[in-house]
Amino acid sequence: MTSLPVLPLSPGAAPRRPALPPRHLADLDLAGRQALVAELGEPAFRAKQLSTHYFGRLVRDPAQMTDLPAAARERLAESLMPTLLTAVRELACDDGATRKALWRLHDGALVESVLMGYQDRVTVCISSQAGCGMACPFCATGQAGLTRNLSTAEIVDQAVYLAGVAASGAVSGSPPRLSHVVFMGMGEPLANYARVIEAIRRLCAPSPEGLGLSQRHITVSTVGLVPAMRRLAEEELSVTLALSLHAPDDELRDELVPVNQRWKVAEVLDAAWDYADRTGRRVSIEYAMIRDVNDQPWRADLLGRLLAGRLAHVNLIPLNPTPGSRWDASPKPVEREFVRRLRVAGVSTTVRDTRGREIDGACGQLAASETGSADGR
Ligand code: SAH
Repeated sequence: MTSLPVLPLSPGAAPRRPALPPRHLADLDLAGRQALVAELGEPAFRAKQLSTHYFGRLVRDPAQMTDLPAAARERLAESLMPTLLTAVRELACDDGATRKALWRLHDGALVESVLMGYQDRVTVCISSQAGCGMACPFCATGQAGLTRNLSTAEIVDQAVYLAGVAASGAVSGSPPRLSHVVFMGMGEPLANYARVIEAIRRLCAPSPEGLGLSQRHITVSTVGLVPAMRRLAEEELSVTLALSLHAPDDELRDELVPVNQRWKVAEVLDAAWDYADRTGRRVSIEYAMIRDVNDQPWRADLLGRLLAGRLAHVNLIPLNPTPGSRWDASPKPVEREFVRRLRVAGVSTTVRDTRGREIDGACGQLAASETGSADGR
């Protein structure tokens, strides 16, 4: 790294770069934590003890770390487990099976995560950025622009925190153990590439180095940043790739997913099929059903032709209209016809359940309602 000259800031000027969050043990692998603990003048095995509390027992309160000498507890926890996320709001719906958290980060930025309990699994949906720079016009996060990338630990901590909520039995009728993580909260994960990859490694490393999830239970959702998709295919991770397609033709996709102006449908699907070839993993094609915009029978047929014979599954998402939006969800009969045509083309298709609607469950709406940024459009 080169050091840049320090320029005097004029009074009141915004810093040129967002301040980094404090370092946390989830930013580091076990060896890195051991080195840090040693720097603090403590025996290296304390790193493993702290990691066991954080990743294994989901404990973050130093008072509960009774295997650490009382004198060292606070200092170690302060240095390796600073508070990264402060809950601003926690909401539950669907009879407690869906819980949504709105967090304030150390610099005031807001991000959201959602915990979803099912009969056989518990999933968390996490954010990779505060805001998003991809500007998809139907997405609440896209309207506000990008604030900053999250650090690895800020990403991981959302899952660890909600794993603790699940372990406390808060999600009735579901297993107590978090099993699945989807990067479908705020932000474009592949635009924060290195930290997201590190976060995946932490989530999947066996305890106590990490949370011990299976790579196959992690889904990374992208607007289609082709070079990053190709890089991801080289990582030798067996995570699921979800591609937010939303339109089978460039004319409409240029509008719905503006990054399509840079990487066209054909290119982005090519990269998706390469990902499927390299990993053997079925790619999930995300398609928000928007009334009279992308839900015509001919678009279903075109999508069917593009996907037939590929290792792909279509996930139709009924549009969750953002406040003030001119768009609405497709009527159910239109949705059913879309599904029928895709299936006739031999493409496996499901419609996503719409968890958390009444708590602004989807896509940045909670943060938008907190800041009022979705108003007045
Ligand atoms: N930036 C990534 C991940 C975040 S969004 C991506 O775009 O894939 C996760 C999914 O929710 C994406 O498929 C996104 O297009 C979709 N989405 C965003 N806003 C939505 C809305 N209002 N209704 C339905 N789906 C939405």
